[in-house]
Amino acid sequence: MKFSEILHNTDCYRCSGTGQYLHYGICFRCEGAKRSYSNSATHALKEFHTAMTKPAGELVVGDQIRVNGITFSGGTYRYWARVTEVVDSEDVLRYTTYPAKDGGIAQHQTLPETTFERRGTSEERQTLLHSLAERFPKAFKPDTIYSR
Ligand SMILES: [Zn+2]
Repeated sequence: MKFSEILHNTDCYRCSGTGQYLHYGICFRCEGAKRSYSNSATHALKEFHTAMTKPAGELVVGDQIRVNGITFSGGTYRYWARVTEVVDSEDVLRYTTYPAKDGGIAQHQTLPETTFERRGTSEERQTLLHSLAERFPKAFKPDTIYSR
């Protein structure tokens, strides 16, 4: 399931749906996503991400989390990683993710209050989307399982 398949959206108007803005690189309006969501779809998306986010101190082994980072050259990257180890010692939380961006295991260290977006189970995501469809009925395209 992709959000662009179930939520109302159009081509991003700034980059005309290419994800790139002229020669500057990734379009900063859509962040390379190429799509532009309607107002109610944007609200529903924001709620979705908020509901899936929790502090690192509550992560458990097996959770899939969104990892954000900055490369040495200043570019940004995001990927999903699985938590394979959580070592909670005093006020620092260490965790290992696999696969990392380069395909290897990555060791991370963070404060327990740092928040992460979890991917959640497909059941969890579906339940959340159904409840969002009740609150933001105009966000969803007709003819999806979430349409009302
Ligand atoms: Zn764009």
